Amino acid sequence: MGGELFIRKGREASLLRRHPWVFSGSVDHVSGDPQPGDTVDIRDSEGTWLARGAYSPLSQIRARIWTWREAEPVDRDFFRRRLADCLAYRRRLSMDDCSNAWRLVHGEADGLPGCVVDKYGPYFVCQFSTVGAERWKQDMAACLMELEGTRGVYERSDGDSRQREGLEPSCGVLAGEEIPERFEVQEHGLRLWADLKRGHKTGYYLDQRDNRALLWDCGGLEVLNCFSYSGGFGIRAALGGAAHVVQLDASADALELAKANVSLNSLPDSMFDYVRDDVFHWLRQCRDSRRSFDVIVLDPPKFADTQRQLEKACRGYKDINLLAAKLLRPGGRLLTFSCSGAMTPELFAKVVGEAFQDAGRLARVMGVLSQAPDHPLAVNFPEGHYLTGLDLAIREDSF
Ligand code: SAH
Repeated sequence: MGGELFIRKGREASLLRRHPWVFSGSVDHVSGDPQPGDTVDIRDSEGTWLARGAYSPLSQIRARIWTWREAEPVDRDFFRRRLADCLAYRRRLSMDDCSNAWRLVHGEADGLPGCVVDKYGPYFVCQFSTVGAERWKQDMAACLMELEGTRGVYERSDGDSRQREGLEPSCGVLAGEEIPERFEVQEHGLRLWADLKRGHKTGYYLDQRDNRALLWDCGGLEVLNCFSYSGGFGIRAALGGAAHVVQLDASADALELAKANVSLNSLPDSMFDYVRDDVFHWLRQCRDSRRSFDVIVLDPPKFADTQRQLEKACRGYKDINLLAAKLLRPGGRLLTFSCSGAMTPELFAKVVGEAFQDAGRLARVMGVLSQAPDHPLAVNFPEGHYLTGLDLAIREDSF
C-alpha cells in the first residue's frame, strides 16, 4: 500500500488550481510499488507535497485526487466525512422537498472521483467507475448504512468507463437489504417507476428533474417527447394540462415503462400515443406530412463521448433541432438538450442557432438549462458540466 507519484517539472499548475486529475503526460515517475487503486502521495519535482489520490496505472488519468490536505489520511473516516459533506449540501438544497430520489454523490464535483451514489428513498444505488473508487466501495457502503433510514446499498457498476480502468462490470447488493426491482419516484408531484436494476443510469434520469418541471403549464397543447425513455417529460406535460402527448423512443422496453408510468399518474391512456421509431426518421416523416406540434422535447442520448466524435455529434444535434424547428407552431416551445460531456453550452447554442437559421425560424431563449443541482458543477472541475440545454420560445415570424 502506498507510494509516491512525482509530477514533471512545470506540470503542476492544474493540481495547484485544484483540478482533481493527473494525466499520464504530467507524471515524471512513481516510487514505491503502488498497485491499482492504492492511495499515493503526489509531489512536485522538488518533492513538495501537493495532494493525495488514487493510482490508476491503466488509465490516461493516472491519479485522481482524494484530498488536498496533507494531514488527512484516506481511510473509512475520510469517506464518512465526505458523505456527510455531500449530505449537508443536499439538505441545503432541500432535496427531500423536491423528490424522494436524488443524487448524493456526483463524483469529482463532490470530492469523490469515480463515485456516483443515488438515493431512492431508503435505498442507495452506486456506480464505481475507477480502481480508486472500487478499492473503497465496501467502506462507502458501510458509511451509507450508518445514515439514518438506510435499508440497502446496491451496486450498478455496469458503465463502459470501468473497462478503461481494467475493471469488470459489477452489480449486486453491497450492504443491507436487497433493493426492490422498481421504485416509485415522486418528484414535484410527478410519479414514475424507476427500474433500479436494469434501467438506464441508476434507474432514472434524476439530472432532468428541474427541466421536466418546466412543463407544468401546457394547457391544451400538443406535445412531442422525443427520446422519451420512461416518459417523464411527456407525463409532466400531461399533468400540466396538455391535450395530447406523443412519446417517441426507439426502445420497446422504454415505451412499456412510459405506459406503466401513465397509469401510475392516473392519466387517461387516450391522451398518449406511443411511437417506436428512430427520432431522425420519424421527424422527417412529420416534416414531409406537414405535421406540427406546440411543444417538442429533444433529450437524446450522448452523441459524443470524446472530443474526436464532437463534429459528427454536432451534425446529429443540428439535424434533429432543424427538424424540430420546422415542426413547431408559431408561439411553440422547444426544450432541447445535449448530455455529451464534450459539448459546451456555447457550442450547443451555436449548433441550435444554425439549425434555426437553416429552418428559417426565430426563437427567444427563455432559459439556458443545466443538470439539477444535486449533480453539482464544481468551479475546479469544468468537465463535470455534461448536461446543457435551451428552453426556446418560437416566434410568430419566420424567414
Ligand atoms: N428524456 C428521458 C431520458 C432520455 S434517454 C427522461 O427524461 O427520462 C435517451 C433515450 O433515447 C433512450 O430511451 C433510448 O432508447 C432513446 N434513443 C436513443 N437513440 C434513439 C433514436 N435514434 N431514436 C429514438 N430513440 C432513441
